[in-house]
Amino acid sequence: MQITVWNEFFQERNQPNTAAVYPDGIHTAIGEGLLANDPSLNVGYAWLGQPDDGLAEEVLGNTDVLLWWGHLKHGLVSDDVVARVRRRVLGGMGLILLHSGIESKVASAVLGTTCKMSFWRHDDRELVWTVDPAHPIAQGVPNPLIIDSGEMYGEPLDVPTPSDLVFITSYEGGEVLRSGIGWHVGRGRVFFVSNGHEEHPLYYRDDLRRLLSNVVAWAAPTAPIMEPTGRVANPDRDWWRAATTEGN
Ligand code: ZN
Repeated sequence: MQITVWNEFFQERNQPNTAAVYPDGIHTAIGEGLLANDPSLNVGYAWLGQPDDGLAEEVLGNTDVLLWWGHLKHGLVSDDVVARVRRRVLGGMGLILLHSGIESKVASAVLGTTCKMSFWRHDDRELVWTVDPAHPIAQGVPNPLIIDSGEMYGEPLDVPTPSDLVFITSYEGGEVLRSGIGWHVGRGRVFFVSNGHEEHPLYYRDDLRRLLSNVVAWAAPTAPIMEPTGRVANPDRDWWRAATTEGN
């Protein structure tokens, strides 16, 4: 299975406190966590500033699951790349939106809403509660998963009603967030994981790495990825085609 971890890769190169936590980029810490749990994965990296934003047709065309971490530079991602990602999800690729990646152009294009949160606050204590203990993504994840310092995201979060609600995070200010939610979009699966604030070393944690590995397994395609507009040629099903072209 081919995994691509996409990262905006801006704060690690421009903001000292994030650079100190992730000197090799957030994407590297995420990828290493996935490989620690499943060495059979192929993990590649892509970031903003590369040609095609790192997601040329041949890269995306080989990707089974794409993880997306973005924050300050959503607007710089090219519309062509966004359309390419959406098309690939519709065809069956898994897409995992990480932390502020929920507000990306990719998220909005795939889910069809603004995907904006209502407010946020840094350095909040997060309690990640499992609300669907039978769900495959919850297996092996502590309940609650405790993050002493993360970031609060406030509801309402403008997303479609999810098909899968696995985690709800509560914060020390009393707010709650649907922090681990999934959707089936076309042939693909999409999942949002809110926890992953860039100023704290969260993606090195074994418990969050377990959670992300479970999400990757859930989002992985269960059938060959197809062109979303492709029609399977089948004369028995395509009787209407002959009928509608008769007499032309
Ligand atoms: Zn953050």
